[in-house]
Amino acid sequence: MSESLHISTNEGDLLKTCTECGVEKLLTAFHKKTHSQDGRYNECKECRRPKVRAITLMKTFGMTIEEYDIILAQQNGRCMICKTKRAFSNGGKFCVDHNWQCCGGGHGCEECIRGLLCQNCNTRLGWLETFWENIMDYLEHRPLRDLRALVSS
Ligand SMILES: [Zn+2]
Ligand SMILES: [Zn+2]
Ligand SMILES: [Zn+2]
Repeated sequence: MSESLHISTNEGDLLKTCTECGVEKLLTAFHKKTHSQDGRYNECKECRRPKVRAITLMKTFGMTIEEYDIILAQQNGRCMICKTKRAFSNGGKFCVDHNWQCCGGGHGCEECIRGLLCQNCNTRLGWLETFWENIMDYLEHRPLRDLRALVSS
């Protein structure tokens, strides 16, 4: 192994104090930011998380955290379909469900936002909507009867 590997500064060992919580943390505890002095945000990842969520929520659905919380409270903190109180998502937050046919996948407008759903229902609803016509057709025609008739004839 070459010596230069040990001499080079290891970014992971540098410390930085978070301007939000005031705790001194490893540089890796801060998100990367291209146009800043040390290439990192001044707030640690933990302190930035709610801000990132707020920005994403506003950008994607034009909704503030306050509005989200009010809607969730009106739903009694439950998923509108299966009524669970667990979000089943990584962040522990319910998904904002919207009609993909209106705005597409990554965005929803005031018109097409429907409610807050747990991750399970949100995923399944998307699947259901995609294949809705096929499903109805399938249920109505029960193709196995015809296929069987074909086989036995
Ligand atoms: Zn912090
Ligand atoms: Zn659900
Ligand atoms: Zn829309």
